[in-house]
Amino acid sequence: MKIKIGIEGFTIDSAHYTPSSPGNEQIHGHTYELTVEVQGNVDEKSGFVIDFDILREVIYNVVKEYDHKIIIPRKDISSVELKGPFSVLTKTIDHPFATVEYIGQDIAKEIYEKLEKKFNITLRISEGKDSYAVIEYP
Ligand SMILES: [Zn+2]
Repeated sequence: MKIKIGIEGFTIDSAHYTPSSPGNEQIHGHTYELTVEVQGNVDEKSGFVIDFDILREVIYNVVKEYDHKIIIPRKDISSVELKGPFSVLTKTIDHPFATVEYIGQDIAKEIYEKLEKKFNITLRISEGKDSYAVIEYP
């Protein structure tokens, strides 16, 4: 039997640019909304797949690394220069573009690894009110 449990309602506000999409190569921001499901067996000792409180904390600790940051593909990091009367915080991803598909994949992978690779992860990440990606990891 397959059981998935999930938590919804996480949001991150991040900036990115997508040169592969004309008009979106300009740095701009989104509020990304995330829902995370984990699939596993029910632990007979606890009755849980995983305690919601533990799962919530793991997800929070992963997604906060993307919040209020500019998400930059690693290949671009040496060519990015930003300075001014503001702070510049970046999150580097190991993908060619900082698209919602790759950002979601990065987040799903980190959650999977923080949960010691015990659960399959399904992550839904919305970029704006009508566009989203669903990532199943691994
Ligand atoms: Zn965008």
